[in-house]
Amino acid sequence: MIEEKGILFVLSGPSGVGKGTVRKALFEKATNLQYSISVTTRNPREGEKDGVDYFFKTKEEFQNMIEQNQLLEWAEYVGNYYGTPKEYVQETLDKGKDVFLEIEVQGAMKVKKNFPEGVFIFLIPPSLEELKNRIINRGTETEELVTNRLLAAREEIEMMDAYDYVVVNDEVEKAVEKILSIVQSEHCKRERV
Ligand code: 5GP
Repeated sequence: MIEEKGILFVLSGPSGVGKGTVRKALFEKATNLQYSISVTTRNPREGEKDGVDYFFKTKEEFQNMIEQNQLLEWAEYVGNYYGTPKEYVQETLDKGKDVFLEIEVQGAMKVKKNFPEGVFIFLIPPSLEELKNRIINRGTETEELVTNRLLAAREEIEMMDAYDYVVVNDEVEKAVEKILSIVQSEHCKRERV
């Protein structure tokens, strides 16, 4: 079996769809995927840890990372900056390990430009009404932020056709199983003797 480089998997989808929950459940099962921890300028939510959930940075630090070309992609999302550290992704893929990104849609589209060989997975809610309930129930956002996140979500859903796979997040465990099948089939596509 010859497989040289790892595969870059990108999970995206509208805010509130449950990307973070699905990603965490996925990583309880997928021992062969490496999660790329993002950099952000937003404040940590309760329970979030620096270097585990995100690398929390100031705007100046983030700006420096952009200037020094240290980010594979970055995006401004609802007033904060989010980005993927480039070196970690490249080194991990070069070692033959798969990398998994969980990022919003603008960033995913930038990755697609630079890494067309990546595998792009779009997570969708069963309905927009369900998405609104999930954002409200999370309870971490002000009313204004909920409205902004829903507006962003509607625009994001329009990008669905640019993805290789669409996974409906009706149940977390089912979504995880589907993503694991995608990972497996993408390896089968590339396997050669
Ligand atoms: P949250 O503030 O809820 O943790 O994340 C907001 C959005 O930013 C989510 O859609 C999340 O997937 C996305 N995000 C997290 N990390 C990155 C990143 O490195 N780059 C981009 N473009 N989006 C990210």
